[in-house]
Amino acid sequence: MYPTNGPPPPPFRPGTVWRAARWARMTQEDERWMRRAIEIARSKGSHPSTAPLGSVIVRDGREIAGERNQTSELPDATAHAEMMAIRRACEGIGEEELRGATLYSTLQPCGMCTMASIWSKVGRVVYGAGRDDVHAMYFEAKHVDTLSFIADAYRDDIVIEGGCLRDECAKLYYPPDADLPVDEQANL
Ligand SMILES: [Zn+2]
Repeated sequence: MYPTNGPPPPPFRPGTVWRAARWARMTQEDERWMRRAIEIARSKGSHPSTAPLGSVIVRDGREIAGERNQTSELPDATAHAEMMAIRRACEGIGEEELRGATLYSTLQPCGMCTMASIWSKVGRVVYGAGRDDVHAMYFEAKHVDTLSFIADAYRDDIVIEGGCLRDECAKLYYPPDADLPVDEQANL
C-alpha cells in the first residue's frame, strides 16, 4: 500500500519527522491498533457529519485508553478524541506522564492535540489520514502544519508518523474538495 520505489527511508532517530506516508513504515501491530481506532471512531456512525474521530493509546502492547471525539455530546470544545484518550489514559494509570506509549489517531492531530501529546510525554504519535487527505475544516490554521510542533519540540524522544491505513481513515472524513456549507465547517 505504501510506495516502495524511490530512496530508502532515513534511519530512525528520535525527533525525526517522517513526512506523511512517504516514509511511514507501519507494522501489522500499528495497523491492528489503527483498526481499533477506526472502530471507535465509527461507534456513533461513519458519515462525516457524525465527526467520526477515534484515538487509542497503547503501552506495553495493551490498550490503556480508547476514545472518540465528544465535543457536542459533553459539550466541550476541547473534547477531541486524542484529548479524551490522554485524559482517560492518565486517569487509568494514575500518572500524568505516558512515556513509552503510542497514541493512534484516525486523523492527523490538530494543534491542540499535538501539543497535548508532547505534554503527555507519549513516545510516538501515529495517524491515519493526513492534512492533505481531508477537507481544511478539520484544521485550525491555514499554513501551519502541526508536524513542525513535534519537530521543534524541546523533547527529542517523540516521533510522529502518518499514513497508517490512510485510505480507510480518509474515507471517514469530508474530502479536500468537498463543497460544504459554511455552517458545516467546524473551524469557522
Ligand atoms: Zn484535536
